[in-house]
Amino acid sequence: MTVHIHPSVDNGVKQGTGHFAGGTLVCKCKDEPVKIGIKGDVAYDHVCGCTKCWKPEGATFSVIAVVPRENVTVLENGDKLQIVDASAAIQRHACKVCGTHMYGRIENKGHPFYGLDFIHPELFTEGGWAAPGFAAFVSSVIESGVNPSEMSGIRSRLKELGLESYDCLSPPLMDAIATHVAKSKAAVAA
Ligand SMILES: [Zn+2]
Ligand SMILES: [Zn+2]
Repeated sequence: MTVHIHPSVDNGVKQGTGHFAGGTLVCKCKDEPVKIGIKGDVAYDHVCGCTKCWKPEGATFSVIAVVPRENVTVLENGDKLQIVDASAAIQRHACKVCGTHMYGRIENKGHPFYGLDFIHPELFTEGGWAAPGFAAFVSSVIESGVNPSEMSGIRSRLKELGLESYDCLSPPLMDAIATHVAKSKAAVAA
């Protein structure tokens, strides 16, 4: 049985050039697509199994990465964007016609990832962006309807692709969150 992770990694993870200068993210609309300009390369690129990240038709995981929010600019057809859930920590700006999430932004200045926008690098018209390096929230794909019996196949495929599986974020990101929490507690105590 073929295990599908995401169309952009199913034939092997394509490594980045290491000097991607940025590019344009384009939604799936044939007419008047939303275009978002991104400066520089992406960071912490990974596949994600959570139920909140946008994924293309037929994909089990999303591919998602971060960029500094000041590197994100709406270039064209921004009037088609709407926030998927204004009460969520990450406000996902999606095209209301095709449903593609163009960027996720955190407005809460106290959030550990404030200052970073979440984007789907597969939407770049250009290639060469930093490749996905791990798999986050792997067990959560069960919440999207994957049969639990398929999990060992999915985890072996991820391993084969060189994407270490985690059921939360990767250790460096979990450490970053804990550091932020520890610092805010120290600030309150001081
Ligand atoms: Zn669209
Ligand atoms: Zn996710």
